[in-house]
Amino acid sequence: MRMLTKKEADGRRQGRVDTAHVSPVKSCNTMRTEEIERLLAEAGAVRHGHFVLSSGRHGQTYVQCALVLAYPKHAEALGRALAERFRGIEIDAVVSLALGGLILGHEVARALGVRALFVERDANGGMALRRGFEIQPSERILVIEDVWTTGKSTREGIEVVEAAGGRVVALGALVDRSGGSLSWKVPAFALLEISLPNYEPDNCPLCRAGGTAVRPGSRFKEATR
Ligand SMILES: [Zn+2]
Repeated sequence: MRMLTKKEADGRRQGRVDTAHVSPVKSCNTMRTEEIERLLAEAGAVRHGHFVLSSGRHGQTYVQCALVLAYPKHAEALGRALAERFRGIEIDAVVSLALGGLILGHEVARALGVRALFVERDANGGMALRRGFEIQPSERILVIEDVWTTGKSTREGIEVVEAAGGRVVALGALVDRSGGSLSWKVPAFALLEISLPNYEPDNCPLCRAGGTAVRPGSRFKEATR
């Protein structure tokens, strides 16, 4: 896990939430971290408050990537920047996790010159490859999600790809807010790491303070997770 700078640690203790907590996972050649932060801020994609995250955990910030990906030129630039991380890894296709990862995955695939597939939730709430999408045996797949928190969706996506005969060779996301808690068997890169705490709902200091968490996004059967 990355060590916090003094400024970040001070901010965390004070409960402040600002872009000082947003830092790069790795250096980025095609797009500066400050530029990515600025795009997210200008789009209003980083919200501060008391939220139920898509993972079901509670947190003080919520990143609604859709708000920045709504600008096609930003989506394209972010996709290109993320694709740059996977230079040197042979990739045959991108599989993104619908809906959140779909636009980003499409743009990463455009940058890599490969096709863009996606997995989505079926009527039973499980992830599935639908719409006639096929993965050829041993095709090398990059799995793209918008935000990593628990990594649950990405793990589900990996299972679907492998069940379809594909080989997951890399993982990517726009934002990693897992706090460094995720470990993967293949190379994994996010454009931004947001080092902010999130909590189990029954152990949330914001709830204990009397607040009520709101759901800023949506997820299939989110309430049951
Ligand atoms: Zn809470």
